[in-house]
Amino acid sequence: MSRPPLDFGPDGPLFSAHVRPWRDLVTELHEPARKAFNFLADRFAFSEGGVWLLDDDRSSLRAAAVLKGREVWDGEKGISLADAPRLRRTLEGSRRVPFPLDGSLWAPLCLFGSCLGFLEVRSTENAVPSAAMYSALDEAARALSFSVWRVSLDVQARRRDLHLRTLSEVGVLVHQSMEPVRLLEDAVRRLVRNLGLDRIKVYLWDARKRVFQGQVAVTLLDGVRSIGRDVFDPVHWRGDEAPRMRHAVPLSAAGETVGWLAVDNLLSHQEIAMDEIHLLGAVSGQLALALRNAVLFEDVEVQATTDELTHLLLGRGFRERLEEECRRAERTRDAFAVCMMDVDKFKTVNDTHGHPVGDRVLAGVAKKLKAVSRKMDVVARYAGDEFIALLPHATAEQAVRFARRVNENVRRLAVKGAGGAAVRPTVSIGVAVFPEHGTLPDELVRAADEALYQAKHAGRDGAALYSPLSKTP
Ligand code: GH3
Ligand code: MG
Repeated sequence: MSRPPLDFGPDGPLFSAHVRPWRDLVTELHEPARKAFNFLADRFAFSEGGVWLLDDDRSSLRAAAVLKGREVWDGEKGISLADAPRLRRTLEGSRRVPFPLDGSLWAPLCLFGSCLGFLEVRSTENAVPSAAMYSALDEAARALSFSVWRVSLDVQARRRDLHLRTLSEVGVLVHQSMEPVRLLEDAVRRLVRNLGLDRIKVYLWDARKRVFQGQVAVTLLDGVRSIGRDVFDPVHWRGDEAPRMRHAVPLSAAGETVGWLAVDNLLSHQEIAMDEIHLLGAVSGQLALALRNAVLFEDVEVQATTDELTHLLLGRGFRERLEEECRRAERTRDAFAVCMMDVDKFKTVNDTHGHPVGDRVLAGVAKKLKAVSRKMDVVARYAGDEFIALLPHATAEQAVRFARRVNENVRRLAVKGAGGAAVRPTVSIGVAVFPEHGTLPDELVRAADEALYQAKHAGRDGAALYSPLSKTP
């Protein structure tokens, strides 16, 4: 009886299939398996063979390489150890020598006291196996055990390298502070490519609809596709339908789940390995933090540039947009207009009805302004009871027409004042256009302001287009 060699190593399996992704291992084992079969073929005749490895839960054997004719192929079959007591006993026991079973010879693959699986050969003849055959098989099994071990370490090291690289690539992306959906798309593309996953679908929390709304699906084969109509439901998500081929990873930061990554290998039928799940977890943590910061930053920016009372852009933000538009129009020579608006006799509203009613009038005027303007127009609260609008692509006539529509709409506004009386505000508007009345932001704002003064002078509740003649002394 052979005794296992002296072993001071830790108990338990030498490696686990979960850390050792099957597909990489199987590919790398082709060559050692072929060499083992060739070594045996030189010594006795056999037609079929296989290299079987223990699964991670040690409940079954999986064919890693099979010999058919003279070719080595990926194995697809599995043997449950519950149905193979003789194989199970060998793996558990200390007697680790080749033995015949069901027309094959089986040699356990053992190393440092741990069993990794079996080398199997099926003889063509029905001859009783000779001592020479047993000894050749034993020799091949010992050498192959080392190969399996080395290949497994090698695969693990390479995967760790790849995973570290993926982590650092995503880290770089996170620091580029891109727009959140773009960041996710780029990061997920890298995950799919580096890990060779079939598909990752990205979902983000939609606070308004209160669902995890689909964003993009990134697939290995055909790239990025929008999945705007998809919704992810974490409660009813069923990962157990294909447990090893699907996995859902939450995008969580600071106890808050901002989205989900739904990963699947349903096309290739490759299981998602445990180390890949760990990597997805680490990457998703980074992404979630970046997403959360981007959203918080957006909130702060909106707060800093938006007027609380009217929800319009504030002067500083407007100024930036106007500068941009001046630069753009300088290149394209495209016309655009600036309208300056001021509420008529607003002091009287405050004095007669009180400040809160004045506030409601300002909010009401802002709403009318928004209603009249197009999506591309930029409307802002300039100061006090003054508003300003930037109308891209608008000619002088179009801008004056816009101003008249504002006048008409504001005239329809009625705000409940002191004692129930309706306050009916009006506005005066001055219009200036690029490039006739100025090509710089200051020139255009000044021209619109002068035209506004003319409108006030002309009796209020109206609009005036700037003309050099209208210039006030
Ligand atoms: P005009 O027709 O010439 O414009 O007369 P006016 O009374 O409207 O004069 P002006 O535009 O100079 O008055 C602006 C007033 O708006 C002065 C200020 O007290 C008031 N105001 C500024 N900001 C606010 C605000 O946020 N809320 C309220 N209720 N009043 C404000
Ligand atoms: Mg005013």
